[in-house]
Amino acid sequence: MKTLEEVLVDWEAVIGLEVHTELTTLQTKMFCNCKLSHDDEPNANVCPVCLGLPGALPVPNEEAIRSIVMAGLATNCDIMPRSMFYRKHYFYPDMAKNFQTTQGPVAFCMHGHLDLEVVGQGAAERPDASIDKKDDGSYVTPVRILRIHMEEDAAKMVHVGGKEGRIGGAAESFVDYNRCGTPLIELVTEPDLRTPEEARLFMEKLRETFLALGISDCSMEKGSMRCDGNVSLRRRGAQEFGTKTEMKNINSFKNLHDALEYEICRQAEVLEEGGVVQQETRHFEPSKRRTMVMRVKETADDYRLFPDPDLAPFDLSDEFVEECRARIPELPDAKRERYMNDLGIKSSDAALLAGTPATAALFEEAVAVTDGKHAPVIANVMVNLLPGYSCSAAQIAALAGLLAEDAITSAQAREVLELVSGSDADPVAVVDERGMRQTTDTSTLEPIVDAVLARCGEQVQQYRDGNKKVLGFLVGQCMKEAQGSGNPKLFNQLLASKLN
Ligand code: ADP
Ligand code: MG
Ligand code: ZN
Repeated sequence: MKTLEEVLVDWEAVIGLEVHTELTTLQTKMFCNCKLSHDDEPNANVCPVCLGLPGALPVPNEEAIRSIVMAGLATNCDIMPRSMFYRKHYFYPDMAKNFQTTQGPVAFCMHGHLDLEVVGQGAAERPDASIDKKDDGSYVTPVRILRIHMEEDAAKMVHVGGKEGRIGGAAESFVDYNRCGTPLIELVTEPDLRTPEEARLFMEKLRETFLALGISDCSMEKGSMRCDGNVSLRRRGAQEFGTKTEMKNINSFKNLHDALEYEICRQAEVLEEGGVVQQETRHFEPSKRRTMVMRVKETADDYRLFPDPDLAPFDLSDEFVEECRARIPELPDAKRERYMNDLGIKSSDAALLAGTPATAALFEEAVAVTDGKHAPVIANVMVNLLPGYSCSAAQIAALAGLLAEDAITSAQAREVLELVSGSDADPVAVVDERGMRQTTDTSTLEPIVDAVLARCGEQVQQYRDGNKKVLGFLVGQCMKEAQGSGNPKLFNQLLASKLN
């Protein structure tokens, strides 16, 4: 098979995603008062409504509607003043009432978009000729969102005795209705994505947005956020879309990228050999890095979709929508901009910090401790040193302070982290107790610099001849001479001033 890069020279990939997100932060299910918790004993949280017993009447969860409206506003959707719930019929034990309550042609949220900023290596997946790229190879591309609708999750089935927990060959199957009726929002994109990396980034951005809204824990691992990837190929320059295949329930960012990559290459091979792509649902096997046919799509799914007679059409007042808008916190994009513009943080650090609410909160707390001083150093500590350790905002601020005044080197900062992580020890006290402070007194450093310059005549000449790189060598010599207690930055400055 050709590589993705080779395929995308002649072919354009067309990708659309369907993303399901469980509203895990709510207290109760979508249409009943059952507790929303998947960790309890199987079938502990059930009632006549979510078990679909005759005569039980559903009542929509207002908080769930608030959550989906917030999701719609945060993704630039139109919030529809009137929409309805529909019944989508199918017969399977994971939905005891034999239909899923979902929405019809008009969803609560319609026609939104998110702009994707594609940077770094991932941007190379998109051939340069197909889009305007900046000098550094990065680009911005809009992704339209067709709709976000409200529906409910099905029960969890557990198959025992088969391979990989699948139903085929299983000796027994169990149903746990705790998950049945969990409020679920489904977002469907237009087929605007063009590379696996764009799909991965879209998913990541959506996750960051929903996390910021606090509407879900968005765990791809636990399945509270999952997506189906649809992909087709067309010759570069062609207008019409090709036949798509769909990959169901992808559960990690990496698998999304890899499944699409594999599927694009597979389709290219089929097409180049003169074959046709079958419209089918495929399953990605991460360990083997390939996709397998799950089922071939029937010509028309007969779900007998019709308005649910038990649920009145939903009218959303302007007040309700405005109330939802007021609840939306600062979103990751705005946070990132603010970190860059107001705090001088570099773009990649700002994006990482702004992406996760807990990280952003810790960062802002640390900046507040220092009254806004040293923000870039705090960002650097959090992005490059902190992963793997656990520190308070005060500890991070203190560590950044020590680094900012050159009292310790970044190698020493790591040592300090090791010592204070998980405790309430003060980094400043630790540095003082252990005599780790770097000599910043130039009167003790100058003689060292002079000695090194006297000794390294050859390198001094090279520097004066224009080879500025030897400065690094000379700094190294000074550090050696000082036996690690000198500050490399100060040595650098002293050397440079003496050499110029
Ligand atoms: P289906 O009826 O098979 O579910 P939809 O029209 O509802 O298909 O689209 C489902 C998803 O597939 C959407 O995200 C859409 O953007 C995407 N999609 C539709 N047509 C194509 C295509 N030809 N190639 C790739 N993706 C597509
Ligand atoms: Mg579909
Ligand atoms: Zn219930």
